[in-house]
Amino acid sequence: MTFSLHGLAVSRGIAIGRAVLVASSRADVAHYFVDASKVEAEIQRVRVARNAVTEEITRLQRDLPADAPHELAALLDVHLMLLQDEQLISGVKGWISERHYNAEWALTTQYEQIARQFDEMQDEYLRERKADLEQVVERILRHMKGVGSPVQPKAHAGRKLQSQDLLLDDTMDVPLVLVAHDISPADMLQFKQSLFAGFATDVGGRTSHTAIVARSMDIPAVVGARSASQLIKQDDWVIIDGDAGVLIVDPSPIILAEYGFKQRQGELERERLNRLRHTPAVTLDGQKIELLANIEMPEDTVGAVHTGAVGVGLFRSEFLFMGRSGRLPDEEEQYLAYRQAIEGMQGLPVTIRTVDIGSDKPLDRHTKAQETHLNPALGLRAIRWSLADPPMFLTQLRAILRAAAHGQVNLLVPMLAHASEIRQTVSLIDHARAQLDNKGQAYGPVKLGAMIEIPAAALMLKMFLRHFDFLSIGTNDLIQYTLAIDRADESVAHLYDPCHPAVLRLVADTIAECDVQGKPVSVCGEMAGDVSMTRLLLGLGLRCFSMHPSQILAVKQQVLRADTGKLKAWAQQVIHSDEPALLL
Ligand code: PEP
Ligand code: MG
Repeated sequence: MTFSLHGLAVSRGIAIGRAVLVASSRADVAHYFVDASKVEAEIQRVRVARNAVTEEITRLQRDLPADAPHELAALLDVHLMLLQDEQLISGVKGWISERHYNAEWALTTQYEQIARQFDEMQDEYLRERKADLEQVVERILRHMKGVGSPVQPKAHAGRKLQSQDLLLDDTMDVPLVLVAHDISPADMLQFKQSLFAGFATDVGGRTSHTAIVARSMDIPAVVGARSASQLIKQDDWVIIDGDAGVLIVDPSPIILAEYGFKQRQGELERERLNRLRHTPAVTLDGQKIELLANIEMPEDTVGAVHTGAVGVGLFRSEFLFMGRSGRLPDEEEQYLAYRQAIEGMQGLPVTIRTVDIGSDKPLDRHTKAQETHLNPALGLRAIRWSLADPPMFLTQLRAILRAAAHGQVNLLVPMLAHASEIRQTVSLIDHARAQLDNKGQAYGPVKLGAMIEIPAAALMLKMFLRHFDFLSIGTNDLIQYTLAIDRADESVAHLYDPCHPAVLRLVADTIAECDVQGKPVSVCGEMAGDVSMTRLLLGLGLRCFSMHPSQILAVKQQVLRADTGKLKAWAQQVIHSDEPALLL
């Protein structure tokens, strides 16, 4: 039966496909696709782990003291029975051989399926066996951990999966959409190389990092759809309307036809925009506008160049640090990654932001900041995290400085608020240069920039401009911290308002002060890629926008139609209104 669910529209377009559910209760296992050639080996990993658990339980049973309660022996019997359960074994095999899920993903997916059946059982005793199944699955997962399960399999790095890698049966050409309670930014990176046509999650806000990565992949996505992962079942047909923020489950043929039509319209619009790729971004009154790309990985520069970005305005370096079980990239690995990005941009400037770990970007999916900190967004995040570990920060700074010998590099520092933080950062950069001098290693010049993303920074612009060559306004966090709205919390998403007068005035003041002092300023938060904001930002004097490459052409279209001279007075009126959104 058709039903619809509402969430937040975070990445435009329409996706129609069958649901792939990522087991929400075990979001901490790795999810990736294995090559066709590795399917047997993956099935073998589960088999080996299952045999090991069987042996373990048999041994436990054998060694039970004579006076052990009878229930304990019976329970171990149940566990042994579950380990031989045909539905579990064949289901897991099916997910691996037909869908090419990695072993852990296959196991947790099959667990979720069987667990649902347990939930529906009338018999209380049988219903309670779900907990036993869970324990058995946990044991197998624990055993598999030691059997070499790379978080990100090398085989897939840098290439897209082919459809034959994914599906071998008659569903071969059916697009797949991913449905999950939540997807960690690290998992999103893995999915970046897969064939998913769309994403839907129960939680998350418009500028949560999961939403940002979905947008950077230019794949339709809806987040904050509450109980989507419970109501949608594996293999259900789902329409993801990334423009309206709606999920339609099990659509009727008429609805399918309507959305098929919308999807084609969207594709036509994209083709039209594609013609602007080589058109310079100049307004009607001759103002040159820089449209730069936000990237997460060096490979993203390919898309950035392709879409006509004139540089990288924000390389979120933290994505090099995430999902590695705490093993941070060393200087050489970072240097090579930054150099790859610089070379990928073919002489265009690259702004590398120092690591912004913390809050909704934990180092690992296992270490959710929320579990250890009361207010992770206000905690040890970004530059605070870097300054708390000078050797780690110096490693990154040396890598960036060395990479700067290969092209134009700007070094951008996130989340600064205090003069003391600025002083410490600048002195660590000097120290990193001195270390390179001592080792006789070559490095290049960098322009130094600060993110303006905490209201305190936006209120201290003169002080910031004494230390920095340029500023970049991180509107995602500036909105979060100005309005006290957690950007990742869907329950307050309606209050996360980029057009709040307080936010707009901080943005306007930053642009104006940089203009007075003749220093470059950009916006690199999601506001820069939001076409409904382009005219206002141009009217406020912004000449440099950095956004996910998928938005560049749509923003360019707005730029080509704008006359900044005419927008200036209107923009002032907007920011001084109590309800600017009504004037936009
Ligand atoms: C921002 O806060 O606007 C920004 C660009 O940084 P991030 O989204 O990575 O926090
Ligand atoms: Mg930020």
